[in-house]
Amino acid sequence: MKSIYGKLILGFLVSILISFSFAGYFVLKNNSEELSEFTRVELQDATRLILNQMTYVEDDQVGQVLTNISESLNVAILVSHDDSEIVYGQFKKPDKLDEAISNLKEKKDGYIDMRNSFFQTVGTHFEIDGTQYTLFVQKNISQQENIFKHSVLLAVGFIFIVGSVVFLIIADIIVKPITRLTRATQELAKGNYKVSVNYVGNDEIGRLNKSFNLMAQQLGKTEQTRQQFISDVSHEFQTPLTSINGFATILKNEDLPPEQREKYTDIILFESRRLSQLSKNMLQLTLLDGEDITLNVENYSLTEQLHRVISSLEEFAKQKDIEIDVNIPKKDIMISGDQNRLEQVWINLLNNAIKYTNEGGYISVNLKRNSKDVEVMISDTGIGMDEEAQRHIFERFYREDKARSVGGNGLGLAIVKSIVDLHFGTIKVKSQKDVGSEFYVNLPYERNNALKEVFKSYRKEG
Ligand code: ADP
Repeated sequence: MKSIYGKLILGFLVSILISFSFAGYFVLKNNSEELSEFTRVELQDATRLILNQMTYVEDDQVGQVLTNISESLNVAILVSHDDSEIVYGQFKKPDKLDEAISNLKEKKDGYIDMRNSFFQTVGTHFEIDGTQYTLFVQKNISQQENIFKHSVLLAVGFIFIVGSVVFLIIADIIVKPITRLTRATQELAKGNYKVSVNYVGNDEIGRLNKSFNLMAQQLGKTEQTRQQFISDVSHEFQTPLTSINGFATILKNEDLPPEQREKYTDIILFESRRLSQLSKNMLQLTLLDGEDITLNVENYSLTEQLHRVISSLEEFAKQKDIEIDVNIPKKDIMISGDQNRLEQVWINLLNNAIKYTNEGGYISVNLKRNSKDVEVMISDTGIGMDEEAQRHIFERFYREDKARSVGGNGLGLAIVKSIVDLHFGTIKVKSQKDVGSEFYVNLPYERNNALKEVFKSYRKEG
């Protein structure tokens, strides 16, 4: 029995069979007892009527009267002497008549009741002119019992047929959506992520279908992201590789003037560094995404760290004649976090600010302590971004400048966001095209490792 359908039907048939066997047995037994009691009373009444009539009629009319009563009451009558000699008989003398007569003497109510599956017989004593007689009145009960048995069988048959039809319809209602879901699952396994199952209803199957549709959608999105990622990665690798390949081919020309040779070598160096940075960034993101990422949390001075990062990038800013304004309180602001990873956050943000600010621009690095967190704000008077760009800058490989006129690979801010998330912090951007940008990073003082785990799994699911 491999299908649910078969199991449901077998279950139904077995339960119907068991329940009707029990119910039928008790109903028939109960009916038979009630019928017997009812007939006993009826026969006793008939006995009384016969005895009553016999006291008024003449001896030669007794036979006729008994026949009349027998016909009108639909009973059979037997009268015997006490020594069991039959005086008047309409039915065969019962085998145990003698025993019955002797039993009668012991009965207080004066009646005896005998019964087999066809007949019920009531007997009593009476006396005429000093002679003892016994009167038996018998009724055929098989007919009444059979009528009831037939009714019960008819009802059972009817319930069985109607129940089976209704059950088949219900089983169909249950099994069909499961079959549809199975087909959809097979489609999904083949890679068709657009598959969905339609089912109206909020029952268990409805909820299962909804979850399936959601799962298919999520898998579709994941697949899309994966494909996008592969295409982005190959694109990011392809551009510098094409450039390296082209300039290396030119460099093979021995007659190339030294200045050009120098220039092309520099380009090759620049592109290979870019490739190296790209693979480093990808590796870093993979590590940050990993289940087993552990932060090396320590309590350290954020003030010192920011000064250090600014000094390391000051030269780059100077090259573009950009002034960096530092608004950091003199008093040390301590923070609990992974020093190396947070350093990466400030480097990426400040590096972007310099990269996307034109010559002679202005950058400011601000640090302040709030009641529950510390806030680092890095602003610039650079090229800024429109709202659409602001919505996507934390995504992998997103770059507003599709022409890639400025060096970079679109992974810097994705790394920043991952690190800030791991510290339960937030990052926000306010920007205006051609005016400048402000990046706000807020990091809480208190860190809870248990919460970090929750957050990580939430990020993975989301
Ligand atoms: P990239 O390596 O391209 O700089 P990022 O992830 O660091 O990658 O930044 C993603 C994109 O966000 C950049 O390509 C740029 O379009 C935009 N962006 C980042 N920082 C700034 C900024 N300070 N001013 C203007 N645009 C910025």
